[in-house]
Amino acid sequence: MGVVLLAAACGGAGDDESLGALEHPVLLVGIDGLDPLVVGELIAEGKLPHLAGLAERGVLGELETMDPTLSPVIWNCIATGQPPERHGITFFSDAEGRPFTSNARRVPALWNLVSDGGRSVDVVGWWNTWPAEPIRGRMLASYAAAAQASVIWKSPAAWKELEEQTWPPTLVEELIPHMIFPGDVEVVMNRLHEVFPRPHSSFGEVLRKSQANVAWSLAADQSFAGVGRYMLSNEAADLTMVYMSLPDVAGHGFWSFREPEAFSYEIGAEARQAFGDYVSLSYIEADRLLGELIAAAPKDADVIVLSDHGMHANPAARDDPSQGATGHHLDVPPGILAAAGPRIERRGNLLKGTAERSLGHVLGVAPLVLRLLHIRQPEHWPGVANQAFSLAGCLDLEWSTNNPALTTASVDRDFRAPSASRIPAANLDDEFLNHFSGIGYGVLEEKE
Ligand SMILES: [Zn+2]
Repeated sequence: MGVVLLAAACGGAGDDESLGALEHPVLLVGIDGLDPLVVGELIAEGKLPHLAGLAERGVLGELETMDPTLSPVIWNCIATGQPPERHGITFFSDAEGRPFTSNARRVPALWNLVSDGGRSVDVVGWWNTWPAEPIRGRMLASYAAAAQASVIWKSPAAWKELEEQTWPPTLVEELIPHMIFPGDVEVVMNRLHEVFPRPHSSFGEVLRKSQANVAWSLAADQSFAGVGRYMLSNEAADLTMVYMSLPDVAGHGFWSFREPEAFSYEIGAEARQAFGDYVSLSYIEADRLLGELIAAAPKDADVIVLSDHGMHANPAARDDPSQGATGHHLDVPPGILAAAGPRIERRGNLLKGTAERSLGHVLGVAPLVLRLLHIRQPEHWPGVANQAFSLAGCLDLEWSTNNPALTTASVDRDFRAPSASRIPAANLDDEFLNHFSGIGYGVLEEKE
């Protein structure tokens, strides 16, 4: 009896009387860089059936984001419910130039809070999750998003050698059949041309590099979606989180083909023919993978899909054809949020209308997820304390009236202390960092 009382008194965010039976599991899919304008256009053309289906059965609108608008910073805001100065992942890499790793995060993320709250959670490919943390569930950690595909995933053997990629550690073997191990560039390029047309002639260095980035990112997304499908169809957790990156990578490299009028130089007819549809095709592929995840999820799940920011033409590349990143998002363009399920309000596609298109803020995502899992929300989180950040308007009105938000004091001080970012393997250092800057992150670094 004494033990029970102690557990109740010292429990985590939801480890108390608030933890009732869970009515429905939650699937949270993050797709980097999906832009509201492009999504709206492609839905109108009937090209994104799965996002359109969510809008039809639930809601689709804009999602306001953080400034500075940098992907790892925002994905950590989404996962922790806290701003960068609190979660500590303030850029792509730390002062030593090392990509931030999970041990550097200063506050608990959803997977920690959900585990402490007595629910199960599976996480696939989320930014800055390597080394995989011990959770009540399964994790395939990501070192630094798409950049890792070309360096770490050379073969199943090389991949297995890298430690702490999964939780539990023995999960490694189980995931291998669901991953793409590129082996060499040709395999990756063949995958690429199943989705994107094969150019009839060769192109310059800038386009070849952008195309290679799209190829690696596609291999990563297909792997993450494959692992996500496997987890969803084998004892799905109460919360499943899957991250994909293709629309962001394609948007950075090929925006000038989508919006040539924003650039002062001519884009040749041959290049236009080869790459003109890259941005649209990356959205269509992301939607296809999303459809596979939704199909594998429990039928009664609440599904939430979101992007960390939108994208548009990069004014700094306007007059410079040698500039690879023709799409950018440094000026806080909103992303999107789509949701549907038994506890989501049917509000339809807000991107179609001229009225309010925004559903809330990226800092509202973690509170929304905890609420759906009946776990107490830390009352100091901006998305809890400030109505303007909240996404509670996505909830079915009757359900939300009957299930008011439960809050708790901050749980941050109970979290392990942060430590310096780690490098996954000694010999990986230079090769990885070169590639990391090669996919455009170095360009961002120069701006700081
Ligand atoms: Zn991003």
